[in-house]
Parts: sequence; structure tokens; C-alpha cells
Amino acid sequence: MTHNYPEINPFDWSTVQPYVDQLLAAELTPGAVRDWLQKWSDLFAVLNEVEAQIYREITENTADEEADARFKHYVQIIHPEKAQAEQALKAKLLSVQGYEPTAETALILKRFQTESELFRAENIPLQTELSLLGKQYDEITGGLSFDWEGESKTIPEVELLLSDRDRSTRERAWRLALDAYLAKREDLNDLFFKMLPLRRQMAANAGFSDFRAYQWQVMARFGYTPADAFTFHDAIEHEVVPLATEIYQTTARQLGLDKLRPWETDIGGPSQITVDPDDTPLHPFSAVSELIDTTARIFNQVDPVLGGYFEAMRAGYLDLASRPNKASGGYCEGFPVSGQPYIFMNAVGSADNVTTLLHEGGHAFHFAESIRNQPLLWNQNGPMEFCEVASMSMELLSSPYWTRDKGGFYSETDFKRAFTEQLQGSVLFLPYMAIVDSFQHWLYVDAPDDIDAGDLDHKWSELWDRFLPGIDYSGLRAQKETGWQRKLHIFHVPFYYIEYGLAQLGALQVWRNALQDQAKAVADYRRALALGYTRPLPELFAAAGAKFAFDRETVGELMALVRERLEAL
Ligand SMILES: [Zn+2]
Repeated sequence: MTHNYPEINPFDWSTVQPYVDQLLAAELTPGAVRDWLQKWSDLFAVLNEVEAQIYREITENTADEEADARFKHYVQIIHPEKAQAEQALKAKLLSVQGYEPTAETALILKRFQTESELFRAENIPLQTELSLLGKQYDEITGGLSFDWEGESKTIPEVELLLSDRDRSTRERAWRLALDAYLAKREDLNDLFFKMLPLRRQMAANAGFSDFRAYQWQVMARFGYTPADAFTFHDAIEHEVVPLATEIYQTTARQLGLDKLRPWETDIGGPSQITVDPDDTPLHPFSAVSELIDTTARIFNQVDPVLGGYFEAMRAGYLDLASRPNKASGGYCEGFPVSGQPYIFMNAVGSADNVTTLLHEGGHAFHFAESIRNQPLLWNQNGPMEFCEVASMSMELLSSPYWTRDKGGFYSETDFKRAFTEQLQGSVLFLPYMAIVDSFQHWLYVDAPDDIDAGDLDHKWSELWDRFLPGIDYSGLRAQKETGWQRKLHIFHVPFYYIEYGLAQLGALQVWRNALQDQAKAVADYRRALALGYTRPLPELFAAAGAKFAFDRETVGELMALVRERLEAL
């Protein structure tokens, strides 16, 4: 399939509209659909390429005013035009009579069909209002700070203090950070109770009895049901919680403590133990060039083709070093016209940085494999649940090459530490994920209409006791029951969280296969990535050699394997 990218100036909509008009005016017979979709895809690829470029520029240098102006122009002027064009093109496609979707187009049509069925004009202002309220959440929580020995500290800065060897320092920092949240407790309650009725109203407008049923469709969750989510929660309670509790106990023992307290774990949600039983933190690399060279050697050994993709990214598609005026965090973005993935992160020399690059590398390979095999834009990458299988699997598939004798980062001893942390992390995340997910199922379906903040606190606390008995919260009632206020997903992207848990199960299965036959596991992984979004989740998992299942047996087997490997380390 050859692409035909139109000559447009994406910043000037008057150069784009003629191409949209052409598509809208075309006579769309069933036989013409495939070519017509390609034209639409190629036009939007040019726009998406520029969007990726603008996003790259504003994150690489937050002080670049010209880039900022381009970004604002694009968001305010171009984006609404593009959204309108997209709506009209979808309507035209869906009105074609007698078109038989192929394996390539079936899911595209299904997604468009679902979107158009859910669309209600009266929901647009409600969505806008929700976005503004979401922004308020960012303002409230982003503005939190506390005084630390005469210096003002932000919440992200508390993480460093939570890794302090001195327990009283950790406790003091944690309490101060939580006090900062608790001072906004009423504001966050008020904010949430402005959002809740809007969500219920949107669901009702679209003809759904509850918000979960609506949101399930919005998120195109065709491959699993709420009942499956409950099966997964149950499996976590019985198969993961005992191992997580053991990990907390072992770490406590190593630290010479009776039991872990919250100041030994992440502030957002305990998916990581913040204090290292070893005296010196891991230091896998110093210069960013070293990070890139070493990772390139690792990817090459995982698979030469994947290594080749990374090699190509070295020519201008990696921005990894931390520096002033660079946005925080890390991400991978695909450039659909140049066909290049791009990775952004803030490396400072930590073991976490290595994990981030391996993770984003998996996303980059997903984009690279899918764009080579899927000429239609909508089929590149894949459903969110599977995107994270691509990235999380790469963290594990690369592990045989982490040691120095393979050109990797670690001595034999340090490898044991790094990989122990990696495996522990995949266990510790799941109980917290189950709390966040169960909480929302209750909130949007089972809870009575007239719930108040006290009910939310009570429910969160109850779930906490069910899934996280391993951390001692005694005497910290207010901090514990307001945990839902510290989870931004609950405010911003309701129900978006289980994806990471489902993907974790996929990645652990890919790794299990690799322990038997690394070459075959990698080949299956690549084949699954190449399918992009053309298959439903169970088929994508199957192609990667994994079962899309969340029952006790599946989860239990994986936890038994992790436990065995942790003991061997
Ligand atoms: Zn990811």
C-alpha cells in the first residue's frame, strides 16, 4: 500500500478543507470504501504528524514561546475544525449501505459506530464542564506544598524524602505531605460532587441506566465485562494479596522493622516500596549516551529487528536527558508520516530510568511494527490494554541482557536487586489497582443516589482493608479514608485503570513463555504488535502467547512463578 500524503499546511485550515470536501463529496460505494479510507487516513496522518511534533516541542522546551504559540493556535483553531471534519467523515462512512467490513476495517467501523451511537450534542457542554473541573483538580493538587526545614517542598519532591534511611525523617515528610492534602479535603469533596452528577447526566442523556454502562462503551471495552472485572478483583484478593503481604513483611524484616508503615511506600498508591534495604542506591549509568548505548545492546539481543528500530531512533528521535525547562515525566509518541517512534524522558542515572526506557521502548516497537503492517492510521498501536502489554513485556523480555557480561547495566549482585524490584513491583501494583477499580464500580453502580463524602471515605477504607492488609495504618484514619482523593484517575479518567492490571497479566505470561523459549516468545510478541488494532483483545493476547483471562487459576499460576523466581533471586 503506497501512501499519498497531500500537500497541506496543517496550521492553515483553508489548505486542509478542500481535501475534506473532496472526501465528503466522493461517491462512496461499498467497493470504494477501502481507498477512500486510505485517503482520509493519509490526510489525517499529516495532521497527526504535526500534532506529535508540536507536543514534542512544547515538552522538550517549556520556555519556547514560539512553540507554545503554535500549540495554542493548533488547539484553538485547527483542532475544532479537525474534530468537525472527523465527525462528518465518520457519518458518511457509516451511511454506506451494503459494505462488508474486512478483518482490517471491522474494528474501525465498530469503534466509529459505537462513538456515533453514544454521541449526544447535549453532552458536549457537560464534557467541557468536566474538563474544567478536572483542571481544578490539577490546580488544587499541583499547588500543594509544605514547609521542610525552612524550604517549600512539593508533593513530587516528597518521594526523595520517603527514601531517606532515617525512619523519623520519612514519617515527618509523609505526615506533612498528607496534611497538605487533608487541608484541601473539603475542596476535593466539593469538586468531586460537582463531577458526579455531570457524569450521571451524560450517561442518562445517552440512554444508559448508569455511568459504568455508558463509560464501558465510551472506552470501547468490547473484550470484557464488569463481571470479568469482579472476577479479577477476587483473584487478586486470594492470589496476589498474600504474596504482596509477604513482600512487605520481608522488606520490613530487612529494614529491621516490625511492619511497614505508609511512609515506606509511594504517596500516590503503594505500588512501590520507597526505602531500599541496601545502603547504596543502584546507579546503572552516568551519562545519557551510556544509557542509550547500553539499551541499544540490550534491544539488539532481544531481537535484531527491534534493535534496528531503536538504532533508527538515535538519529533525532530520543530526548532522554533531564535539563532545565523540560517537562516532567516520560512518554512515547509515534510520527505517522515519517513512521518513526519518539521517546521523551528525564534521565538522571537511576534504575527507574532504565525501566522507563525499556518500557517506552516497548511502546516504540509497537508503533514501529504496527505502522509497517497497518496502512490505516486507526489500526496503528492498539487498544490501551494491549499497548501496555507491549511496553510491560519489554521490561521483562529484556531482563536476560541486563547484566554486564551481556553488555548490560548491572553486576550480578545489582541485577538481583534490580530484577527483584521489577518483580515485586508487578505484584504490589495489583492490590492497589483492585481498590481503585472496585471503588468505582461501587461508586457508579451500587452506591445510592444520595451518597456523600463520608460514604466514599468509608468504602475506600473498607476496600483498603480487604486488599492492603500488609501496611500498618493504625492511628491514621483520616489519611487512609481519603486515599481516593489522591488518585487522579478517579477525577480525570473514570474507570481507566484496570487496563494496567490486565496488561500486567499479559506481560507476565509473555515472560513466562520466554523463560521456556525466549526466541519463540519474542517472535510471538512481534507478531502480536504487528496486528495493531485489527483484532479484539483476546486475539491480540493469544497472538502474543497469552490468555486474556483474569480468573484465580491464571492469576495464581503467575503469582506462583513470581514467588519462585523471587525466592531464587
Ligand atoms: Zn506505558
